[in-house]
Amino acid sequence: MKLTKVNIKKTLENVNISGSSENIVDSGILKNIQVFGDQVDIDLILSNPTLQARKKLEVDIMKIIHADIYEKAKININVKIEKVDSKISSQSKKILGVDSIIAVSSAKGGVGKSTLTINLAASLAKKGCKVGILDADIYGPSVPTMMDVEGYVPKSIKVNGESRIEPIESYGVKIMSIGFFTKLDQAVVWRGPMASKALNQMIFDTNWGELDFLFLDLPPGTGDIHLSLVQSLPITGSIIISTPQNVALADARRGIKMFQQDNISVPILGLVENMAYFKAENSQEKHYIFGEAGVRYLSKDLNINFLGEIPLFKSLREASDFGRPGSLQESSEISEIFDDISKNVVEQLLIRNKELPPTKIVEITNLVGCSAIKK
Ligand code: ADP
Repeated sequence: MKLTKVNIKKTLENVNISGSSENIVDSGILKNIQVFGDQVDIDLILSNPTLQARKKLEVDIMKIIHADIYEKAKININVKIEKVDSKISSQSKKILGVDSIIAVSSAKGGVGKSTLTINLAASLAKKGCKVGILDADIYGPSVPTMMDVEGYVPKSIKVNGESRIEPIESYGVKIMSIGFFTKLDQAVVWRGPMASKALNQMIFDTNWGELDFLFLDLPPGTGDIHLSLVQSLPITGSIIISTPQNVALADARRGIKMFQQDNISVPILGLVENMAYFKAENSQEKHYIFGEAGVRYLSKDLNINFLGEIPLFKSLREASDFGRPGSLQESSEISEIFDDISKNVVEQLLIRNKELPPTKIVEITNLVGCSAIKK
């Protein structure tokens, strides 16, 4: 292909910025292209990009021009930054009908992020709240198994002439999972922009209807992929879960920093300590297998709210494997723990979510039994 302005523009229609489902040409990011012999000057305008997102975009542009048009092209990319208030931009992307989006995240895998997500969701649905889960864990979507809807395939439907995906409902919770679209034994390697695009589509194209709370089960970690997800999805608040041992806490600090970055600034509703201790059957003695109260101390140290602790329960693991959330077990220690944590989460959310009308706050406070009204 010849190195011309037209060819370059056409090729750049295949490049997206991390976190956006639109390409850089249609979204207006690409401002100008100049070609002088084998030299190409490209001007871009970006709003609040992370350093990684910016670098990644530059590399993507260079790669695609070298691969598709002319491998010896000398490319010069000028990036102008236009400041946009991240809060305003995320509000403008609000999902119609969904009041609060709560991201559940962990810096490490296997610390109980999905367990917390499904149990909070089921606990709130049990009380009459309208709840959804978007399982965005691209590395290992376990929500379908834990909610007993493994292998289900969501239907495509038309709502007011537009194509939508119908979520799968289980235990009164509306579920959409990246796992519904990938095979169990299929290892999918996601790149940041691809994951953001797929998840943006899933979150905005799902027929959620009216929801009080939409839980987002994020992939574990704090890398580029997470940054672009957290930036692109309209998150109201986040919960960070960790186990109490030192190695996990060091990672948890990184997770906290990610949400606190200027260009993300998602409020942290609080920290949850999982696998806090173990009690043998018929014994009240607590064994602190991963250390005592590490997450509680971390929350004190960083002045972040502590939402609660979950002990190690064999029956909680069994319930998850069986596809029935432990929080639905009637008057059990497990259901009490998740009811308490969900109450604390909702309270934090209602205090911070200034957009909710007072009638909604009264309604939710009464359903959940938290004390947000009095604050
Ligand atoms: P993540 O989503 O962070 O990868 P999961 O929620 O999938 O972690 O939990 C990993 C495994 O640990 C699962 O088998 C789950 O059932 C189990 N598990 C999580 N929390 C507990 C707990 N408090 N007690 C017993 N098992 C737990």
